[in-house]
Amino acid sequence: MASAEIIPGIHVVRGKFAGEFGFIASYLVFDESEILVIDPGTAGDPGANLEKAIKSLGFNPKSDLIGIICTHGHPDHAAGANRLKKSTGAPVMIHKDDAELLQTPASFLNERLIMDRAERFSMKIDKGPLRINYRGMEADEYLKHGDEISIGNTTLKIIHTGGHSAGHCAFYDVSRKAIFSGDEVNNFPNDPRKFYIDKTGSIIAKLTALEVLSKLGADYLFPSHDTPHLFSDARLQFKAVKDGVVHLQDTLLSLLRARGDADIEQFVFDIKEARSVPIPESYNALLSTTIHVTLMGLKEAGLIRELGNGIWTGVG
Ligand SMILES: [Zn+2]
Ligand SMILES: [Zn+2]
Repeated sequence: MASAEIIPGIHVVRGKFAGEFGFIASYLVFDESEILVIDPGTAGDPGANLEKAIKSLGFNPKSDLIGIICTHGHPDHAAGANRLKKSTGAPVMIHKDDAELLQTPASFLNERLIMDRAERFSMKIDKGPLRINYRGMEADEYLKHGDEISIGNTTLKIIHTGGHSAGHCAFYDVSRKAIFSGDEVNNFPNDPRKFYIDKTGSIIAKLTALEVLSKLGADYLFPSHDTPHLFSDARLQFKAVKDGVVHLQDTLLSLLRARGDADIEQFVFDIKEARSVPIPESYNALLSTTIHVTLMGLKEAGLIRELGNGIWTGVG
C-alpha cells in the first residue's frame, strides 16, 4: 500500500484494521532529500510496506532514509524496525529504557505485562497486533529527551514521556506544530479515555506528559493508532486521556472504600461488572497491568497501602 498525505511533508502508511487497536499507523516525515520513519509498525503490515511507500514518494530507501525512530518498544510499533533496517541500512533509534524490549521481544509478555500462564499462552498464539513474530535487534542510537532530529529543514524535538512504557517518547515537529504521540495519547481509537500502561510505565509520568504535550499548542496530533486529530479536536484529546486516567484512579479508590481491601483480580472483576470504566477488551493482561501500575501510583501518593500477598487497602 502506498502512503497517504496528511499535510505536506507528512504521510501515513496504514496497516490492516486491528480490532479495538484501530489501524496501526506508521508515519513518514520528509523534507528536501531526506525522509524519516516514525514507528515502523507490526512486522507484516504496515512494516513490510514501508520501503515501497518510501519509493513511491520518489525517495531512495538506501540513501535518503535517515532513520527509523520508535516511540516505544511494543510489538505494534517496533516489530517492523529490524526488516526495514536490513533492507535500507537506516539506523534504528529508541529510548534506552525501551531498548532492551527491542532487543528481546519476548520480554513484552514475560516482563511488561501481568498475566497467568494460560493468558501468556493465548497471547503467544494470538495473531493480533501484539504478537511476537519477529527477531529482536540492537538499537543503533538512543533517543534522548530534549535532543532534536533534523530531516532536511524540519526539526523534530524528542520528548520523553515515559507514561505508557518507561522508554516512551513523543516527537514534536516544531514548524508544522504536529505531535507524534505514539501510544501516550490515544492508544485506543474512538475512546481516548481507554488506555493501557505496561509494567514499566507510570501514571505520574503519563499525567505530567499530557500536561507538557497539551501546552505545546499543537495543531495536529498523530497517534500511532488510527486517525489523526486536527486543530480543536487535537486539543480535546489531552483532557479526554487525563479524564480516563483520573477516572480509573477514582474508581479504584472507591472500590477500596466499599470493600475495605482487594487484590488485582477483584479490581478486574469489579471494573468489568460496573462497566463504568472504558477498558481494553482484547487482552485481560492489559487491564490487570494497568490496574497494577495505577495502584503503584496511588501508593506513591500515599492514598493506599499494600497489606501483603497483593492485597491493597485505603489509607486513613
Ligand atoms: Zn504501546
Ligand atoms: Zn500501540
